Amino acid sequence: MQTNLADFIRDTPQGQEADRILRACVHCGFCNATCPTYQLLGDELDGPRGRIYQIKSVLEGAAVTTETRDHLDRCLTCRSCESTCPSGVQYGRLVDIGREVVEAKVPRSAPQRLIRWALRLVLPKPALFGFLLGLGRLFRPLLPKVLKDAVPPPRPAGSWPAARHARRIVIAGGCVQPSIAPDIDSAAARVVDAIGISAVPVAIGCCGAVAYHLNAQAYGLDTARIAIDRLCAALDAGAEGIVVSASGCASFVAEYAHHLHGDPAYRAKAERVTAALIDLTTLLTREAAAFDAALARSPAKPEAIAFHSPCTLQHGMKNKGQVERLLTVAGFRTTVVADSHLCCGSAGTYSILQPQLSATLKANKLAALEAGQPSRIATANIGCLTHLASDAKRPVEHWIELMAERLGV
Ligand code: SF4
Ligand code: SF4
Repeated sequence: MQTNLADFIRDTPQGQEADRILRACVHCGFCNATCPTYQLLGDELDGPRGRIYQIKSVLEGAAVTTETRDHLDRCLTCRSCESTCPSGVQYGRLVDIGREVVEAKVPRSAPQRLIRWALRLVLPKPALFGFLLGLGRLFRPLLPKVLKDAVPPPRPAGSWPAARHARRIVIAGGCVQPSIAPDIDSAAARVVDAIGISAVPVAIGCCGAVAYHLNAQAYGLDTARIAIDRLCAALDAGAEGIVVSASGCASFVAEYAHHLHGDPAYRAKAERVTAALIDLTTLLTREAAAFDAALARSPAKPEAIAFHSPCTLQHGMKNKGQVERLLTVAGFRTTVVADSHLCCGSAGTYSILQPQLSATLKANKLAALEAGQPSRIATANIGCLTHLASDAKRPVEHWIELMAERLGV
């Protein structure tokens, strides 16, 4: 597609990146077929091709309206369109740039600003979030449904194995997961311990994704710098890699090198952290001999599992089918899930900011997951897990918890 970006952005790094992405788009519209908001709303402007066109117009200097902002707000940033696009258009990067420009040109109302400010304030701070979650649990019956769904019952922390191996790997604890489901990282620690690697817990605070995707990019990257310093310190102390069990956070850590490319003080450190990131599926595959030996020590329990692959895992990190493969290797039976490429509607803060669309996507996703009559649903991201569990008829767990259970650890 031809472009002619306006003076205000043409020669900036964002402008040059947006220009490159826009020029890759041939406007074919294949992406619309797999876009959840286009499927639900049937409006070209609520599909990726239409959003790309709106962002192009804004960057070329056209007037920006609240309607433009609303169409971009309704995007889940699920990146399903990226997986479909035959031209490799990096829609996720483009929409981040477009949203930042639109946000600056069309200020939000005071109540909208307040909600976004509160989300940016509370979610990335584990202690504050944990305190408010405790309060929310006390007063849960009085909360509106959208908040009630975000306040799950407490879960036990689970045991963290003592360091006993020469090899060590970091398990990075993020912002909301340690309060909502501390058992996920402890399950991951027991699984890696079972394959001969000791897990070192590192509390990074927040990876920065929450603020970044709420259009506070600079604040999000400041948060990321704190996480990077903590992770680099753990690597300096001898850890061989970094595991982030929530795919939403992992996909943002995987982008640190890109986001901080222009920061001379953090460029090398960000590259180091991104390079050290290893997905749990990759780790178990790489350590197949030790994993197989651990599986052999404990009997398999045949059980039907429906796996919901988070968008951040399948579209963000392009990691498709690996969890299902490992669950099968471990003796589980994974059920067929229709439209597995579609978002469940959690999408960071989307369930709070776009409750109707989010609820429809959740209902559709649960119908697809439960159609195969699984005994449990598994996923790989705390946001999806909490969102789906609020209305699911069966337990929803992180797949690494199932794996820990299977290994008897
Ligand atoms: S983003 Fe890709 S699939 Fe969508 S219109 Fe552009 S080239 Fe076609
Ligand atoms: S990121 Fe998801 S919701 Fe947004 S345009 Fe792409 S497919 Fe549609």
